[in-house]
Amino acid sequence: MRTALFPGTFDPITEGHLDIIRRGLKIFDRVIVAVARGVHKETLFSLEERKELVEASLAEASPAEAEGAGPDWARDSVSVVEFDGLLVDLADRMSVDVIIRGLRFVSDFEYEFQLALMNRQLNRRVETMFLMPSARYSFLNASIVREVARLGGDVSSLVPKPVADRLKERYHPGRPS
Ligand code: ADP
Repeated sequence: MRTALFPGTFDPITEGHLDIIRRGLKIFDRVIVAVARGVHKETLFSLEERKELVEASLAEASPAEAEGAGPDWARDSVSVVEFDGLLVDLADRMSVDVIIRGLRFVSDFEYEFQLALMNRQLNRRVETMFLMPSARYSFLNASIVREVARLGGDVSSLVPKPVADRLKERYHPGRPS
């Protein structure tokens, strides 16, 4: 049984994150989504909300692109945990030796490369693997989604429905859809 850890802030989860999870499941039997408390970033949603939105999004995500996956692909193969502290310590606690991260444009590369090498320095057992999302999600990041939603733009094709609904509630309560 091969398991990978997919860590992030997920503030909130987007279709780009789901794309990486689906691709991860082509290689691994299980993916554990690890939602970071993220003290280095001021988050829009609390840790509990971010985790809950990942769960709600997985519960209704279609298996598209996860070849061979049945309708319950997410329930059967993906679990969600929250964490605080070092990622490599979580990997140890969960006995997982692969971290997956998404790589979009060159702009991600420098930070991701540093992070991967630092994690290797901290724990030689753990390897980092990068997956590239579909080109249609390559421009997408959670902060752009938050900004567009805040300004009243339509983000429904960029995030799962539970996230679109929650963003609307948060930024434009009472506005009809
Ligand atoms: P972090 O604070 O760890 O960067 P994020 O939630 O922003 O947390 O990102 C988690 C992971 O998901 C990172 O590897 C990031 O590169 C990846 N990711 C974020 N958005 C996308 C996207 N649109 N397509 C592919 N990967 C993405």
